[in-house]
This record gives sequence, structure tokens and C-alpha cells, in this order.
Amino acid sequence: MAKQKAPRRPLDSYTVNHINRTIKAGDCVLMRPSDPSKPSYVARIERIESDSRGSNVKVHVRWYYRPEESIGGRRPFHGSKEVFLSDHHDIQSADTIESMCTVHSFKSYTKLDAVGNDDFFCRFEYNSSNGSFNPDRVAVYCKCEMPYNPDDLMVQCEACTDWFHPTCIDLTVEEAQRLDHFFCGSCSAESQKNMQNSLTSSRVPSDEKVDTKRRRR
Ligand SMILES: [Zn+2]
Ligand SMILES: [Zn+2]
Repeated sequence: MAKQKAPRRPLDSYTVNHINRTIKAGDCVLMRPSDPSKPSYVARIERIESDSRGSNVKVHVRWYYRPEESIGGRRPFHGSKEVFLSDHHDIQSADTIESMCTVHSFKSYTKLDAVGNDDFFCRFEYNSSNGSFNPDRVAVYCKCEMPYNPDDLMVQCEACTDWFHPTCIDLTVEEAQRLDHFFCGSCSAESQKNMQNSLTSSRVPSDEKVDTKRRRR
């Protein structure tokens, strides 16, 4: 005969005594991994429940995967604090919560003045059964056509507004940091061409367009 399961009680919030913080649905937390040599698990709390006496508190979580936990593994454009919101749900004891953390959007992460231990960012949802990502395409930058890794310094071309890795434009990071203005290779070639064109047209004084330009100056 099946044993009657004790009714569970939903909780709006719960104070995790060993970290002295109150958690609620929607919060992100770090949880102790079963293998202590692994980094802490990152999870989003979906709901909290206890037994009928208010003890044995369990949290329903949705895991964030780190890039190395994904089927495709870590790629060069993945940031050190990048996590993917997975479709993998679980129920864990509230005892395994180590601390609170923040999973930022990509945009707000890139605007942080300082990245703390408990700051992460997420720009992809991850399907843990087939290893696919949503969105499956992201903007790419630079000559190497890579998505942006927020850990890497990039310089922006003032003309085309594309971003470039110093190494891809034969600069060291220090040289790139010292740049006041930057025009990428194809834009400086383009402006050379435009300069030559305007020199040619200014040699024709009857050209109305050139005249207009002159008067505006
Ligand atoms: Zn590049
Ligand atoms: Zn450019």
C-alpha cells in the first residue's frame, strides 16, 4: 500500500538562517554542488515549500548552466561570469543554499562598474536535452566575426561603429587603451578615397554642389 505523502505547504519567502538572508521566488542563489571540487551551482528559485510543520524546506529551482556544463562546452566568446538559463528544473533542500547572487541581463552586466563574486550574466536560454540555445544567433563583431565577450577589451570604429579586438587590428591591449580616435582599416581606406574624390570635384569650380558646400563653411 502506498504511504500517504505528507501535504507540502507553499511559502512566500523563507529566511535561510545560515546565511541570514530571506529568499523568495525569482531570487538567484548559489547552491552547494554534490562534488565539492566543482564551482557552486547557480539557480533561480521558482517556488518554496515546507512540510506541514513548516520545516524541511525545499526550493524548486531552475538551473543556470555554466558554459563548461553545456553540450557544446565553453567557447571563446563566453564570458567568465556567463550562465545559460536552462530548462532543467529540480527540487533542492534549502540547506544547500550558499549565498544569494545576481544574474544580470547582458546589457546591464556590461554597464557594471565592478563585477563582484556574486555577479553573473545571462544572454541565452539553453535546452539541456539537445544543447541548443535561444536565441540561436547573436550579433557578431570585428574581422573575426565573434559574438561579444564582455571580458575582452574592444575598440569601436568611429565611422562604421563596429567593434574590434586589439589583436585583430595588430594592437596590444595597452595601445588600444591609449587610442583617442579609431577608424578601422576599411573605413580609413574609404575616407582616403572620399578625400581624393572631393579634391577632384573641387577642381571643377562650376559644380553647384561644391559651391553650396563652400558657402556653408
Ligand atoms: Zn576579432
Ligand atoms: Zn570602420
